[in-house]
Amino acid sequence: MAETAAVAEADSNEALAAAVGGNGASDGSRFTLELNQDQEDIRDWVHGFAEGVVRPAAAEWDEREETPWPVIEEAAKIGLYSFEAMGQFWADETGLTLPIANEELFWGDAGIGMAIMGTSLAVAAIFGQGTPEQMGEWIPQCFGTPDDVKLGAFCASEPDAGSDVSAIRTTAKYDEAKDEWVLNGQKAWATNGGIANVHVVIASVDRELGSRGHAAFVIPPGTEGCEQGAKVKKHGLRASHTADVHLDDCRVPGSCLLGGKEKLDERLARAREGKRSKSQAAMQTFEASRPTVGAQALGIARAAYEYSLDYAKEREQFGKKIIENQAIAFDLANMKLEIDAARLLVWRAAWMGRSGQTFENAEGSMSKLKAGEVAVWTTERAIQILGGNGYTREFPVERMHRDSKIYTIFEGTSEIQRLVISRAISGLHIK
Ligand SMILES: Cc1cc2nc3c(=O)[nH]c(=O)nc-3n(C[C@H](O)[C@H](O)[C@H](O)COP(=O)(O)OP(=O)(O)OC[C@H]3O[C@@H](n4cnc5c(N)ncnc54)[C@H](O)[C@@H]3O)c2cc1C
Repeated sequence: MAETAAVAEADSNEALAAAVGGNGASDGSRFTLELNQDQEDIRDWVHGFAEGVVRPAAAEWDEREETPWPVIEEAAKIGLYSFEAMGQFWADETGLTLPIANEELFWGDAGIGMAIMGTSLAVAAIFGQGTPEQMGEWIPQCFGTPDDVKLGAFCASEPDAGSDVSAIRTTAKYDEAKDEWVLNGQKAWATNGGIANVHVVIASVDRELGSRGHAAFVIPPGTEGCEQGAKVKKHGLRASHTADVHLDDCRVPGSCLLGGKEKLDERLARAREGKRSKSQAAMQTFEASRPTVGAQALGIARAAYEYSLDYAKEREQFGKKIIENQAIAFDLANMKLEIDAARLLVWRAAWMGRSGQTFENAEGSMSKLKAGEVAVWTTERAIQILGGNGYTREFPVERMHRDSKIYTIFEGTSEIQRLVISRAISGLHIK
């Protein structure tokens, strides 16, 4: 997703923290690399699902380029695709369970992983910005039930507003007589866009205020004027549906404004008076969410590394295993090194976010940047180690390479991460 809804999301950290049980550091939040029993159990549980259900289905859904509903249903049946599971991952005071679960699932397959985790973008926005009533009403509708699985979509990006979210053109106008909001505009690249039960849309209520004039709206199921546009054919993550969403005089009840009108009016008044923005808080919110995305990239990288290590120990050329050549063995050593280094950055940032540490040096961005680039590099090396086989769809590393590339693009491109880090370390407004 884009650098989305930053200001509105900033207000929400407290709600999220309250829901998951506090934001301050406590004994449980001391950083340690030793996993506790709960973390190990969740890791093994997700890994089991990734290995037994996700992996065997990966090639098929990549080829079909469709949402893998049966796999999502399986995930719902075991409770993995549910608000309860997401809540449990979030609730860990050390912050590590969420990246651990994501790494394991995406180790299974990233396209299916995103088909399962894409809903959490909408859930996070509702969780973050909604009132308790809104959370209670809309979050369950994002998941549905194991017998009737539903999806959520988060729609911030637009054709002309990707990295630059302040350029959002979608508008929301309040019709006071009917207590309704009327949304108009076009959203781009929405994961689950058009097939979701619940869409969360970021729209401008005051264009002059830039991103400080943005607000988030829930579009309830079946609302007229909210239609899927073109479905995007992609390089990777093909089991995850991505599409434009058109909003054409789309009317939603006043209660669909996340956080409520009073809070929005106060925020707009503050912005119009030129009072201090909450961009600092928004930045902290992004920093806290980025390690989860980094963990997904790590899952892909680890899968490619493991596959190519096994292959190199089997494949013989010139009368010996190819791993006996330093060129291959050193590549594998570097892959392992880079993956472990990236994981340390991911875990550090996840722990910092959950235990309320200040991201002085954009450590969240560092983790996502490193993990994304490691995933692209590792999967490319994996193809090289498999030679011709690596380049074919008969072997999974080709798919992993295609899947990895998105991790230098969404949730803030690598360039945007470097911008954020360089601003943080320099204190200057680097452009
Ligand atoms: C598979 C997929 C799923 C997605 N899912 C969602 C979703 O669910 N919801 C959602 O809202 N969005 C989603 N997105 C959109 C995604 O967040 C954007 O693609 C991303 O933010 C980049 O925006 P852009 O594509 O418009 O690229 P641009 O912003 O046009 O960037 C193009 C290039 O210019 C560089 N660039 C831009 N500005 C600067 C700068 N100031 N300094 C240096 N370089 C710069 C970028 O780094 C990039 O290399 C998804 C995208 C994809 C491909």
